[in-house]
Amino acid sequence: TRAYLDAIEPAGDLNAYVLTTPEKALEMAAASDARIAKGEAGPLEGVPLGIKDNYAVEGVRTTAGSKILGNFIPPYESTVTGNLWRAGAVFLGKLNQDEFAMGSSTESSAFGPTVNPWRRNGSSQPLVPGGSSGGSAAAVAAHICAGAAGTDTGGSIRQPAAFTGTVGIKPTYGRCSRWGIIAYASSLDQAGPIARSVNDAALLLRAMAGHDPKDSTSANLPVPDYEAHCGASVRGKRIGIPKEYRVDGMSPEIAALWDKGADMLRDAGAEVVEISLPHTKYALPAYYIVALAEASSNLARYDGVRYGERVPGRDIVELYEKTRAAGFGDEVRRRIMIGTYVLSAGYYDAYYLKAQKVRTLIKRDFENAFAEGIDAVLAPATPSSAFGIGEKSGADPVEMYLQDVFTVTLNMAGLPGISVPAGLSAEGLPLGLQLIGKPFAEQELFALGQVIE
Ligand code: GLN
Repeated sequence: TRAYLDAIEPAGDLNAYVLTTPEKALEMAAASDARIAKGEAGPLEGVPLGIKDNYAVEGVRTTAGSKILGNFIPPYESTVTGNLWRAGAVFLGKLNQDEFAMGSSTESSAFGPTVNPWRRNGSSQPLVPGGSSGGSAAAVAAHICAGAAGTDTGGSIRQPAAFTGTVGIKPTYGRCSRWGIIAYASSLDQAGPIARSVNDAALLLRAMAGHDPKDSTSANLPVPDYEAHCGASVRGKRIGIPKEYRVDGMSPEIAALWDKGADMLRDAGAEVVEISLPHTKYALPAYYIVALAEASSNLARYDGVRYGERVPGRDIVELYEKTRAAGFGDEVRRRIMIGTYVLSAGYYDAYYLKAQKVRTLIKRDFENAFAEGIDAVLAPATPSSAFGIGEKSGADPVEMYLQDVFTVTLNMAGLPGISVPAGLSAEGLPLGLQLIGKPFAEQELFALGQVIE
């Protein structure tokens, strides 16, 4: 714990942490030592972790990267972080993220952008770590925590993991409790770890997961010993390569990486076959309707009365307007407007309802593939390696949304997905491959992920 705390300050230019709690960390580490001495060590005893800023940690400022939450200090602990502390883990601090987890670069945070510890060969240009869990990914990659908790609504664990050479898993919807995690899009949000290896991710997820009566969407299923599946044989597994993911303009580098991943799985005894997921191309537009609709509803609670910052007005309406105008950043405001629009009378059927139907079709595509004997799907995690800070945060938000083309499908279907580092680009940047599994079959993803990492 001391070594990690000492390493955080010199890495300050990364802006990975929005807050650290050294005293609390040392107290927790001392309690860990005491448990170890008594022979009562938990599975993560003494392991120092960073936590994305959208998890409520009791008594610690929690803002989800937004000004509107101001100095909100939750008097409660999220279930997932509570599970981590019960397993013996030590809390180092809160990690930067896109505001309300809306973004793919961690540039929309009220605390300013996080910087990727990686650079292109021979270049000093600062790159994004991906997002929205960019602080988590950068901190793990820079060795300023041993592992981190992130959240993934449309790729926010897997894309930053791919950009930083780390491992990230979004478990099946319902595997982890969402209680105490600041909501973005409730039917898509999931907690998950970012770690330095598949094995570490397995250990972390096991501790994070489990049924929680406080989240009615959390699954009442036993959590397997994921670590025991790391290194398990993948012989005979059938891996699908979805032809629709070979999108127009896919870079030759990403296509080659994908082929390399398929070869590695084949060499390990898996059978690799081409499959079709015909509704793939509708996933991204449908995601940006469903997610934004839910966001507009979830963010209605930030009214300047119950939480965080308040800008006074002559009456209550003016107070709401001024508070929300001052508290939310541009991207969040854009999304609230789009979300409100697609839910409004007259447009609901044309947009929201249509997107929900598309969502069902996307889910069925995967169900059909699994019914035909496919065990997991292999795809790229991202369309490119990490890009420069400022490069995609300009006037056209769609530039950024296109980052999610390979990741949103499985959130729409509720399925688990892992991103594992699979090689370096010609410019020397990490690239990730993604494996998508059957519902509640995360253990298979750990076994397959170990073949590629
Ligand atoms: N980039 C996607 C979005 O902005 C995903 C974000 C996330 O997974 N939280 O919605």
